[in-house]
Amino acid sequence: MDALKQLIRDVPDFPKPGILFKDITTLLRDAGGLRSAIDCLAEPYREARLDKVVGIESRGFIFGAAVADRLGVGFVPVRKPGKLPAATHSASYALEYGTDTLEMHRDALGPGQRVLVVDDLLATGGTARAAVNLVRECGAEVAGVAFLIELEALNGRAQLPDEQLFTVLRY
Ligand code: AMP
Repeated sequence: MDALKQLIRDVPDFPKPGILFKDITTLLRDAGGLRSAIDCLAEPYREARLDKVVGIESRGFIFGAAVADRLGVGFVPVRKPGKLPAATHSASYALEYGTDTLEMHRDALGPGQRVLVVDDLLATGGTARAAVNLVRECGAEVAGVAFLIELEALNGRAQLPDEQLFTVLRY
């Protein structure tokens, strides 16, 4: 895990003052690091009988699609508003200032399907909370929520009290 942590670059004051941004592009460009990150995210779900992996725009697409392929299941994108072409469900969530919205195709998941939600990083938890709500709106079951990185001080887990959370790297 220390080897993976060393591949993640800390960028202070991005995208605004006071934020310490966890830059995963330095991990993605390293062949061994990329494979190991995907291995770590997929491994706990080998026997989970998943039907789909849902990835959150945009870094959740990179890990989510790779995890889906590794587990032999399909991938469903959760996107920012106005990007998905067919009929969508949408879920809004609070930001520090104002709100944001995420969308998912209404026909992307079916009732009873078992779904893993994947994103790169758990901060305050609002983004993942909205994605979980979208999965449930389709009648599907959230079998787990997985992140490469958890920023523990921001207590994102409080937003997801009933979910099975898995995080590879904790800070
Ligand atoms: P939150 O909704 O607060 O849990 O924020 C999670 C989303 O914001 C994820 O999709 C992350 O990619 C991004 N994010 C939040 N904080 C950071 C950070 N310090 N470094 C990198 N990405 C972050």
